[in-house]
Amino acid sequence: MAQETFTFQAEVSKLLDIVARSLYSEKEIFLRELISNASDACDRLRYLSLTDPMLLEGALKITLSLDKKAKTLSVADNGIGMDRDDLSATLGTIARSGTQAFVDKLSGEQDNDMELIGQFGVGFYSAFMVAERVDVLTRKAGQEGAWLWSSDGQGSFTIEDAERDGQGTTVTLHLAKGEKEFLEEPR
Ligand code: ADP
Repeated sequence: MAQETFTFQAEVSKLLDIVARSLYSEKEIFLRELISNASDACDRLRYLSLTDPMLLEGALKITLSLDKKAKTLSVADNGIGMDRDDLSATLGTIARSGTQAFVDKLSGEQDNDMELIGQFGVGFYSAFMVAERVDVLTRKAGQEGAWLWSSDGQGSFTIEDAERDGQGTTVTLHLAKGEKEFLEEPR
């Protein structure tokens, strides 16, 4: 199947606008959110494997990697992964209640809204605080095909066929100018 373009739910676009313009000082929270999602994905696969041991492809793990040349930072897991429907259902809408509460409280006032990011957390979307493009390469456990979700956070995202060695998910952040500090290992 060719590449397909989807429009973000209006509330997600609103959220992304604020996240991308964010001057929020503790930007590293994006890493906590992505690792937490990766960890959840591993837990979900571990749980499924209790009744279907064949689903496990090896020890569950999360890998963080940096590519200074490409200016990317990736968080990979070999957890449950996502299929096409999972991707369009979760990474285009507001899936978590905390994020909904965040959107409900938005005032349009920069300082106030900024504080809310720290208070509520915005899950996966916090990646757009530091990235100008986010790619999600994923393959669902027990399935053959993989998918690539990609977005610059400007109103739409694409999904296309892809290939991935093994099941799980790799989230790659193409760091925005000015956010290259996250390419330094100590950081
Ligand atoms: P939350 O994790 O609180 O549900 P997020 O916005 O961070 O909210 O993520 C939305 C959804 O996207 C998750 O609930 C999960 O279904 C899916 N997701 C995100 N990252 C991954 C991942 N690494 N592996 C599998 N599913 C993921």
